[in-house]
Amino acid sequence: ETLDKGLEKSSQGFFENISQAVVGKSVVDEEVLDDLEDVLIASDVGAETTIKIIKKIEARVAKDKYTNVSQLNEILKEEISNLLLDNPHAQTGNIDESKKPYVIMVVGVNGVGKTTTIGKLAHQFKSDGKNVVLGAADTFRAAAVDQLVIWSERVGVPIVKQNMGSDPASVAFDTVQSAVAQNADVVIIDTAGRLHNKVNLMNELTKIKRVMQKVLPDAPHEVLLVLDGSTGQNAFEQAKQFTAATEVTALAITKLDGTAKGGVVIGISDQFKIPVKYIGVGEKMTDLQLFNGTEFVDSFFR
Ligand code: GDP
Repeated sequence: ETLDKGLEKSSQGFFENISQAVVGKSVVDEEVLDDLEDVLIASDVGAETTIKIIKKIEARVAKDKYTNVSQLNEILKEEISNLLLDNPHAQTGNIDESKKPYVIMVVGVNGVGKTTTIGKLAHQFKSDGKNVVLGAADTFRAAAVDQLVIWSERVGVPIVKQNMGSDPASVAFDTVQSAVAQNADVVIIDTAGRLHNKVNLMNELTKIKRVMQKVLPDAPHEVLLVLDGSTGQNAFEQAKQFTAATEVTALAITKLDGTAKGGVVIGISDQFKIPVKYIGVGEKMTDLQLFNGTEFVDSFFR
């Protein structure tokens, strides 16, 4: 239900646009497909993935020349489900419990909802009965540390921090060390998201990893990239830059409740072959969902 509500704007926008595309039409012809292409692009599915979807539908329609427009939604739903499931990495399990602590390094630019997502995750894990430790390794912005402290208090989980401007890798080291000492289940480490210098970003993330590996050689177990789902092409661009800088293993796409362009989830997952693991559908602590492709498509194409 939260999902339906969170995707309401996207779903409505999509429904209206599709309805427009088929108005006065009875069968799916070239013109309908052209309009559908525009609808997908407008929903931020992205050019590459849109073409892929249109080609699949074209092939199906070519086989059955009299495909009725009333079937279009169902066909589209099937093709997009296949695409999300075809993604070989589309595993949406929560955490690997054989890793203790399971270390999540969170990356992404400022403003995308990184801190909020960390808070929501901490809340989820804690509600599952897990012991969580947060690490404030975004030491460049006082506000980032302050915000994370507020979340740690709100959720009721410990946080490891140092002074402003200290080495993020050192904070990560302390956090993992403290988590091991406490026999914690999950560690969530916030990092600075400055994109102005690609080499710096790469060096910084590499160093954070290398230093935490002194405590836990196979950490981090997850590198979670947070993207703002309402920013369309910017989200694609950020995904490109972060995947170039480090090995991103999962995506969290936020603010889907505030946009009609939820198609970004489909395009980013397809283009980068990285599973969307979480979606943010509101500002509350409980407004983070473990992504499920089938449920997503069902809500989207209600
Ligand atoms: P950060 O700079 O990346 O750490 O971003 P914040 O976590 O501080 O979030 C920036 C703003 O986005 C805040 O006002 C959050 O409440 C809001 N926000 C984060 N996630 C969501 C979401 O899924 N939906 C909505 N509507 N707002 C969100």
